[in-house]
Amino acid sequence: MAEIKLQNVVKKYGPLEVVHGIGLDIEHNEFVVLVGPSGCGKSTTLRMIAGLEEISDGTISIGPQVVNDLPPRKRNISMVFQNYALYPHMSVRENLGFGLKIAKQPEAVVAERVREAAEILGLEELLERTPAELSGGQRQRVAMGRAIVRHPEAFLFDEPLSNLDAKLRVQMRTEIKKLHQRVKTTVVYVTHDQVEAMTLADRIVVMKDGWIEQVGTPMEVFNHPLNTFVASFIGSPP
Ligand code: ADP
Ligand code: MG
Repeated sequence: MAEIKLQNVVKKYGPLEVVHGIGLDIEHNEFVVLVGPSGCGKSTTLRMIAGLEEISDGTISIGPQVVNDLPPRKRNISMVFQNYALYPHMSVRENLGFGLKIAKQPEAVVAERVREAAEILGLEELLERTPAELSGGQRQRVAMGRAIVRHPEAFLFDEPLSNLDAKLRVQMRTEIKKLHQRVKTTVVYVTHDQVEAMTLADRIVVMKDGWIEQVGTPMEVFNHPLNTFVASFIGSPP
C-alpha cells in the first residue's frame, strides 16, 4: 500500500485552477522529487500534502488514513522550509527540542531525541550555540534536526537548498541523501533544479502547468521522456 496517495487532487484559488486533478502513489521509504519550472504547482502540491493548503477536490491519504480534513500537526509528517526559521534567542539544543516541549513530551524523551538528531546530523559540538553563531549549512542542518526529532512518517522539503551557494548545495545534497539512508523515511522533495532531482530521487515527478507530465526513475525519465517538454526539461540543465 502506498504511504502517501494522491487521487484526483485539484487546487483552485478562486476561479483559477492551478493543480488539475493529479494522482500519485509514494511508497514507504521512497525519495520522490517533484520537479518542474517555476509556477507549475510543486509547492502547492507539497503544501496540500502537509495540510497547509486545503484541497479543492480529490483525496490525500497518508498511511491508511484519509487526511483531507486533518490539520498539519495531526498528519505525522514534517516539513522543512526554504527559509529555515530558527528561533534566534534559543540555543541549537533548545531549537531542536522546542516542538517536542510544546507537544508536552517528557524531558527525558526530548533530551534523547535531541541527542539522536544531533548525532545523525553532526551537530553535537554546536548544541550550545545560537543560530547567529552558525554557518548557512549548519543552520540548514538544525532545521532538518527539528523535523527529525518528531520521528515523522515522512519528510517534506520545499527547495531547502536554494538559498545556499553552489558548493554548499552540493554538500547538503549528499547530507540529505545520507540522512534518508540513515533515518529510513519517506521523502517528498520539491525543486526546480533538474540536477538536484536526478541526483536525489528514487523517482522523479515532472510537473508542468498544474499537470504531472511523467513519473519514473531518473534513468527512465532521462532515457524515455514521454513528450518533448520532459525531454527538453530533463535534457537541458540551466
Ligand atoms: P511552484 O512551487 O512550482 O513554483 P506554486 O505551487 O507556488 O508553483 O504555484 C502554482 C501556481 O499557483 C502559480 O501560478 C502561482 O502563481 C499560483 N498560486 C500559488 N499560491 C497562490 C495563492 N495563494 N493565491 C493565488 N494563486 C496562487
Ligand atoms: Mg515553489
